[in-house]
Amino acid sequence: MMPTLFRRPMPFLLAALVCSVFGTNLCTAAEKVLTAAAYAADITPLKFPVSSNGQMQDRMVSRVHDPLHARCLVLDDGKSRIAIIVSDSCMIPREVIDATKAKIEKLAGIPVNQILISATHTHTAVSLAGVFLSEPAPGYAEFYSDRVAEGVAQAIKQLAPARIGWGAAKNPTQVFNRRWKLKSGAVGNDPFGGVTDRARMNPGYGNPDVTEPAGPIDPDVSIVAVQTTTGQPIAVLANYSLHYVGSGVPGDSLSADYFAAFADRMTQLLHATDVKPAFVGIMSNGTSGDINNVNYSLPKSPMPPAEGQYKVVADSVARTAFDVYEKLEFHNWVPLSVREQELELKVRKPTPEELTKAEALIAAAPGGKLTTAPQIYARESVLIHKFPDTVKLRLQAIRIGKLGIAAIPCEVFAEIGLAIKQHRAPAPTFTIELANGYNGYLPTPEQHALGGYETWRARSSYLEVGASVKIQAVIDELLKDGAK
Ligand SMILES: [Zn+2]
Repeated sequence: MMPTLFRRPMPFLLAALVCSVFGTNLCTAAEKVLTAAAYAADITPLKFPVSSNGQMQDRMVSRVHDPLHARCLVLDDGKSRIAIIVSDSCMIPREVIDATKAKIEKLAGIPVNQILISATHTHTAVSLAGVFLSEPAPGYAEFYSDRVAEGVAQAIKQLAPARIGWGAAKNPTQVFNRRWKLKSGAVGNDPFGGVTDRARMNPGYGNPDVTEPAGPIDPDVSIVAVQTTTGQPIAVLANYSLHYVGSGVPGDSLSADYFAAFADRMTQLLHATDVKPAFVGIMSNGTSGDINNVNYSLPKSPMPPAEGQYKVVADSVARTAFDVYEKLEFHNWVPLSVREQELELKVRKPTPEELTKAEALIAAAPGGKLTTAPQIYARESVLIHKFPDTVKLRLQAIRIGKLGIAAIPCEVFAEIGLAIKQHRAPAPTFTIELANGYNGYLPTPEQHALGGYETWRARSSYLEVGASVKIQAVIDELLKDGAK
């Protein structure tokens, strides 16, 4: 913390005078000013109907339940300017992210390697990535990247002296591991004709074939908060490891799911409804590849809440975030840095026999219509066969003072996020998944051995079995103090 006398930014001449009178230490503190701003860019499409991915079958939606946003946070420590953008999208491929970063650099001047762009993973957004039977919505990627670049430029216009704090608290009430271990003797089918799976996703309530969840949860609600030097909230960037909620959002409509409802609730709790510039709540997705909001240890499905489950989750998580906010220690200045590294990983490609079998399944589909899981996965096998043998992932680590933020372009299993946190403990850390690209699910090698949906080869899961080990090693290194 700086001495009280110097909490307000000083004009340069006054700062220089203080330097000459009080000496170098105070001089350095007085010159360092953190500036921050946030802006929520509307990325709701203008043309309907439009493809919305997140299911096996494609869905064309023609209504807006609630608007989609790319929530942009810009921070500047006087040396380094960074942007963190969290978009209401299911997943965003690297080429769309790279094009968007290039537009941001051109329009707003932030270098491409100082930007994080992630997807919240709402399953009711516009298709930007091809997954299962959804393909990217024509024209939307360009619209999206224009809007995001304009949003960052707008945030930069609002940059003002700020202070920053971070913290975390646990909320285990809204997260459940959705993969359950199968009892010995229970049959675990996969869509390729195999029966070797030992784990099942979303087994249903009271399923006699399953024993226990196949992995842990991460209950942390982590936040980074920025406010003006007089205490007016600017933004809260939160992080929670929950896939999405969905329940309560009509299936034929676009919606930002609980991620936007969290932002609204946070605005209310902070009494920031009327502040100018507008307060921006941001919920980023943590490591939720195997996590959802359904408690299958209950004997049967509970009655859905009248106001929609996504609002119940948003309220619960926002209350935890608000509790953290109220106890935060704010810093008038902290150093900022972004580090990136490319990692080349092998693609799990089908064998010639698997490819032949897949092609035969597709050829036999009546009228060429793919309706069953084996047919849809057969098409995925053909598409993965056309992938290069290796792909390059961009891994990134942001440092905000002592806080570390990892960014991984996958749907990361919770235990990997916990291991990344553990590696840096007691220093605070969280991971934003589906960031800077999209490379499918990221199970550990042990989870691959159990099988189940998240391991089935498709554009939603294709990295080599050992990918998580290599990714974590790079992330741990990037997050180190003094890492280059
Ligand atoms: Zn999903």
